[in-house]
Amino acid sequence: MSKHQHDVVVVGAGTSGCYAAATIARAGYDVAVVERKPVEEAGHIACGDALKGANAFPEAIPKEQIEPAFTNTDVDHGRFEIPQEDTVLDIPVPGELAVIDRWKYGKLIIEGADDAGAEFHYDTVVQDVIQDDDGTVTGLHTKRKGEAVEYEADIVIDGAGSLSLLQDKTDFSNATFDTNVSYSQFCSAYREIVEVKEPVEWDDALVFKPASVAAGYIWYFPRTETTINAGLGFQMNEEPMKLVEDLKQDLRNRPEFEGAEVTDKLGAALPTRRPYDSATAPGYMAVGDAAAHVNPTTGGGIAGAAYAGAYAGEQAIVALEKGDVSEEVLWRYNERVMDHFGGRYASLDVYNILSTAVDVDDLMGLMASLPGEKLAEALYSGTTSFGPALLLQTAASSFGYWRQILDFYKTKQLADKLMAHYDRYPGRPSALEGWQDERDRIMDEIYEVTGAKPKY
Ligand SMILES: Cc1cc2nc3c(=O)[nH]c(=O)nc-3n(C[C@H](O)[C@H](O)[C@H](O)COP(=O)(O)OP(=O)(O)OC[C@H]3O[C@@H](n4cnc5c(N)ncnc54)[C@H](O)[C@@H]3O)c2cc1C
Repeated sequence: MSKHQHDVVVVGAGTSGCYAAATIARAGYDVAVVERKPVEEAGHIACGDALKGANAFPEAIPKEQIEPAFTNTDVDHGRFEIPQEDTVLDIPVPGELAVIDRWKYGKLIIEGADDAGAEFHYDTVVQDVIQDDDGTVTGLHTKRKGEAVEYEADIVIDGAGSLSLLQDKTDFSNATFDTNVSYSQFCSAYREIVEVKEPVEWDDALVFKPASVAAGYIWYFPRTETTINAGLGFQMNEEPMKLVEDLKQDLRNRPEFEGAEVTDKLGAALPTRRPYDSATAPGYMAVGDAAAHVNPTTGGGIAGAAYAGAYAGEQAIVALEKGDVSEEVLWRYNERVMDHFGGRYASLDVYNILSTAVDVDDLMGLMASLPGEKLAEALYSGTTSFGPALLLQTAASSFGYWRQILDFYKTKQLADKLMAHYDRYPGRPSALEGWQDERDRIMDEIYEVTGAKPKY
């Protein structure tokens, strides 16, 4: 068995792991990234290829480094196809958006972290976590090409993605780390890269369409006017979709895909839930999908992963400088995540909860009756001004959906109340429980108003 010793070991060479490692390496610390895939496959990750907000990504990896992967920067709206209503809605996408070549982007961020001074150890599968007597994480047991390799580190950063194995292996009984996690809070998703013969008409749009089961959707995102990322996903608390078959069926029904060629296929799970209440334990932080840092209404997780990685990296530096890796010192990482996007994502999750309790046809009818910019606000900011005034403005088109709009309005007020509670996220681990109790009271009100089954 071989042994390695580093200041920090990061698990996973995805977005969160690369941004964390680049941040730490830039400060002169010794950081290794362990990745289960071989070098040539690293960075090849299931994705819809839509990258939002890259203009303001953390600087540990310079934007110029990732820009060559942006294959389509002309997308400025979402196109929602609603077959039930025979309607197509064009909804503006706020902020900068690029459709990317995800594999190329994956390689470029690895290169960026490598340039910053991080080491990459490929073919290295984490199998277990090492903890000392008081529960502090001190290293990892891994396997590289059949051989046992042990890592010792002051801090372990878990960027291993959805349903991270490290969390099954770690004893969190001496930590605040959120363990209220179940499969039903995740979405199962699959995508193909499809080359079409003729340019598509909608190369400036992200195309969405409801899937055959509730809480599922199909997407067509144009990497270029002839290379399309086509995919679909469903919430794991719903009846499962036959992902490959359902996508094939939809492709068959669209004339623009006639004679098209599939060049790549990948699927994975992604969190569609609120961010973990706490993503820290002594000597340990979880980042990106491993801590549900994903917009739960759109499934967009690249931006959250990049920021969480950078914040965890910066907090790791503080802890190394103090020589103290306790939760009290790492806690600031949780605060920064909640302050930046955690509260917003938790409030957006309320609309996911609502969607599990309403009829899909009603939801589609309601969507078709409302102004696009209101829906854009609801999708991205969680703070749309849905309410009785909007009902009056759209009275004619929304006739038949007033009851749903009023329910939506009440739900929206509770989502705002929840967001305000996240603004009071505690400044120390010992205050987390009291904060969670109050949050859970707000969640009970949400379940009552929506009629949805409790998600957590
Ligand atoms: C089908 C699909 C479509 C999506 N579409 C979009 C989109 O269009 N836009 C968007 O912003 N987001 C999208 N997402 C979400 C986005 O891909 C994730 O939020 C993002 O990749 C999270 O990055 P991460 O670094 O946390 O995890 P990941 O990118 O999953 O990286 C985790 C890494 O850890 C490695 N790893 C895992 N376990 C181990 C182990 N035991 N040992 C060693 N290494 C390990 C993996 O090999 C991987 O390289 C989509 C997700 C899916 C599944």
